Amino acid sequence: MNKVCATWYPTIFPEKCDGCSRFNEPRCVKFCPHGVYSLINGKAVVANPQNCIYGCTACESICPKKAILFPQRGSFGQTFRRDKCLLKRVKCEGCGKIFLTNEDTNLCLDCKKKLGY
Ligand code: SF4
Ligand code: SF4
Ligand SMILES: [Zn+2]
Repeated sequence: MNKVCATWYPTIFPEKCDGCSRFNEPRCVKFCPHGVYSLINGKAVVANPQNCIYGCTACESICPKKAILFPQRGSFGQTFRRDKCLLKRVKCEGCGKIFLTNEDTNLCLDCKKKLGY
């Protein structure tokens, strides 16, 4: 399994994210012009971390739940930074497509949606 170091992309804390139910739409998904986010089962996920623009933090402030963080910010320390910096190239067990993720998963987002995860 190859590891790709992407230096800049957000992380979402699922326990904080409410899919912007307050506004009836996921603000980050609508906001990011590079398609970094996607909504799955009412929560935003970082679907395309490799599309995030280096140095951009525009979406951080639009989240009403403060659920979006960048590795260089916040109080996470070295372990967080090192681990979250590693994107893996994974072959999807469902459809066989290659995708990038920083999560421990063998299913692409499309297959997760299909299977109702
Ligand atoms: S803006 Fe924040 S609360 Fe809304 S969907 Fe995105 S991460 Fe979740
Ligand atoms: S930092 Fe910018 S490019 Fe990256 S996800 Fe947010 S809005 Fe999109
Ligand atoms: Zn798949």
